Amino acid sequence: MQYNEIEYGKNILDNGLVSNNVKIDIIILSKYLYHIKKVKFKEHKSIVYDLCKRDIVDFNEVKHYKIIDECIKKGRDKKSYPIQINSIPIYYEYLKLIDSIDVANDYKKVLLSLIFDRILNKEKNLQKLYLFKDSEEYKNIQNNMNLCYYSNKKTNKIIFNSSRIGSTYKIQKVLKDLNDNNIIKDIGRSRVICNFLKNMDIPNFVYYNIQRKDFDKVGWVWDLYKGNKKVKVCEKCNCLLKPKSNRTKYCDKCAREIKNEQIAEIMRNKRSKLKNVIK
Ligand SMILES: [Zn+2]
Repeated sequence: MQYNEIEYGKNILDNGLVSNNVKIDIIILSKYLYHIKKVKFKEHKSIVYDLCKRDIVDFNEVKHYKIIDECIKKGRDKKSYPIQINSIPIYYEYLKLIDSIDVANDYKKVLLSLIFDRILNKEKNLQKLYLFKDSEEYKNIQNNMNLCYYSNKKTNKIIFNSSRIGSTYKIQKVLKDLNDNNIIKDIGRSRVICNFLKNMDIPNFVYYNIQRKDFDKVGWVWDLYKGNKKVKVCEKCNCLLKPKSNRTKYCDKCAREIKNEQIAEIMRNKRSKLKNVIK
């Protein structure tokens, strides 16, 4: 939902408030109504209130109108264009840079997750400013890789999870080790500077485009780069997968689709043969 706000907004409009976070639902729906459907304010409000009345148990307009109007306002902000990130490029230059750093392999996966997080954030901020592509603000974001990582329990958990290094590690310990080695720098107030990215040139060569559904598997891209056979790329849809055997070529979803296509093909052949006989 976080990275496909257009689809998500459309889904709420079609099917109602779906998650247990009503506020976020209304904000994303509002972004969709304002930026994509170009709905006027009055109609916008009535759509949102109708949904609330229908989908929220014990909805009380008098009690809740402030919160709801606030969410509508946030969605109708020109600088909050809906975010739609389908994939993020992982560049060779980043992989090479990480490989040159003298730390354990699993720590390198965390570094890749940190880079990924920075690229994803940059893309998010650029997309929000979609209507302001000529502004200084937009250019500044475009030209700078923000090196500052905001380290809190939630973001650490996301980084740690997507690095896929296993639960024997503790993320606080990993970050502390990286800090002690000057690879990253803890500058207090939950901010960490990614020192290792400081002298990075603008990268050119894409190694792999990681798709939205694999955003939580960044560590696997490192395995792929290092030739670890435990990770493969689906030959049909390019997603990351852990093959069950050497012969695995496709992810489960594509394997199912291919099988269904083959069955349909066989049925078609049978039918056409039958027709020939009847003629
Ligand atoms: Zn696939």
